[in-house]
Amino acid sequence: MFANAPIIYMSCDFLRLAVDGVRRLQPYEPGKPIETLERELGIRDSLKLASNENPLGPSPLAMAAMQRELGRVSVYPDGNGFALKGALADYHQVARDCVTLGNGSNEILELVARAFLRPGLNAVFSRHAFAVYPIVVQAVGATAGVAQPNAPDHVMPYGHDLTALANLVDGETRVVFVANPNNPTGTWIDGARLRQFIRGLPAITLVVVDEAYFEYVQAPDYPNAVAWLAECPNLIVTRTFSKVYGLAGLRIGYGLSHPAVADLLNRVRQPFNTSSVAQAAALAALDDTGHVAESREMNNAGLAQFADAFEARGLRIIPSVGNFICVNVGRDAFAVYQALLREGVIVRPVASYELPEYLRITIGREAQNRRVVDALDKVLST
Ligand code: PMP
Repeated sequence: MFANAPIIYMSCDFLRLAVDGVRRLQPYEPGKPIETLERELGIRDSLKLASNENPLGPSPLAMAAMQRELGRVSVYPDGNGFALKGALADYHQVARDCVTLGNGSNEILELVARAFLRPGLNAVFSRHAFAVYPIVVQAVGATAGVAQPNAPDHVMPYGHDLTALANLVDGETRVVFVANPNNPTGTWIDGARLRQFIRGLPAITLVVVDEAYFEYVQAPDYPNAVAWLAECPNLIVTRTFSKVYGLAGLRIGYGLSHPAVADLLNRVRQPFNTSSVAQAAALAALDDTGHVAESREMNNAGLAQFADAFEARGLRIIPSVGNFICVNVGRDAFAVYQALLREGVIVRPVASYELPEYLRITIGREAQNRRVVDALDKVLST
C-alpha cells in the first residue's frame, strides 16, 4: 500500500536554509550521456565526443590491475594510498608527503577551497576558465575575482591574461586558479611567463596550476609546473588519471604541493576518498608509457585533422593543446549542438562558458572525427 501512497512533503523553504554560497550555485553541467540521448531519440550507434575522455579507453595494464583488485573490495582501501603516493613521488621526483590523492583532480580543487577559503576571502581565476573553480569558491562562501581573458584576436584567444589575473590579487586573495592548458579553450601559457607570474604572487596566495591535460601537450614552450615546487612553496599542481590515462570513471587524480599544504588538504578529505580499485588502476596506468604515447599520438593527429577540416571550411578555431578543440560555428552553437544530437553526435556547447558561438569537441579516433565533421557539414548546410 505504501508503494502507491502519495508522497507528502512538509512545506519548508530549504533554499532559504541553505548557506549563502550554495543557494546561489548553478550545478556543473556534464556532457550528455549517450544512454540519455539514445533513450530520448530512440536512436543507436551515437557518438559522444563531449567530455574529454580517452577514445582508446583505459590501459590494458590498468584493466588487469582492476580485475585483480575486485576480489578485495570488501575491505576499505588504504586511506593514505601508500603505494600510489610512493609511485607518484618517484615519478615526479618529489617527497611522498607532497602528494594528496583525490577523487578526481576535481576533489583537490574542492579541498583547496575548503582548506583555504571562507567568506571575506577571495579566489582569482580567468573568465572562460574551467567551470569547477567558481563552484568550489562559491560553495564555501568566498568571493570570486574573474579576470578579463585575452582578446579574441590574441594568439591565445580567450585564454588567461596573467597581467589581468595579477591585477585582481589583493590582501584577501588566498587562491589563484590557472588551468594550463585551459578547458574549454585549450589555450596554454608558456613556462617563462607562468613562472614569473607565480614568483610574483604574495606568499599568502596559493596558486593552483591545473594540469589535467599535461600529458597531451606538445607545445615546446609548455612548462611542467612540478619542476617549480621546490622554489614556490605556495604552488599546488593538480594532475589526473581521467584524461590521457583513460580512467575518468574511476575518479582518481592528485595534487602535488609543499608538504605543509598537502597536510592541510589531507585533513579535510574523506578518510577513504579514493577507492582501492582506482588506486590499483592508477598505479598500473602510470607504468603504461606505451598507452600514454599512443593516446598522445592519436590526439595530435586528431587535433590536426579537425584544424585542417575547419580551416578548409572557413570556421575559426581556438588553438588547443588539449584533447579537445573549440570551433566557432558562426551562429548560435546551442542550436547546432541540438541538430548534431539528432545526427547521433554529442559534442559540448560552451555558452555556459560565455562562448555562445563555439562548440567544444573532444578529439576522437580518425573515423569518429570524420563523422563529427560530416555531421557538422550537414547541419551547417541547412
Ligand atoms: N581540470 C580541468 C581543466 C578539467 O577539464 C577537468 C575535467 N573536465 C578537471 C580538472 C577534473 O577532472 P577529474 O576530476 O576527472 O580529474
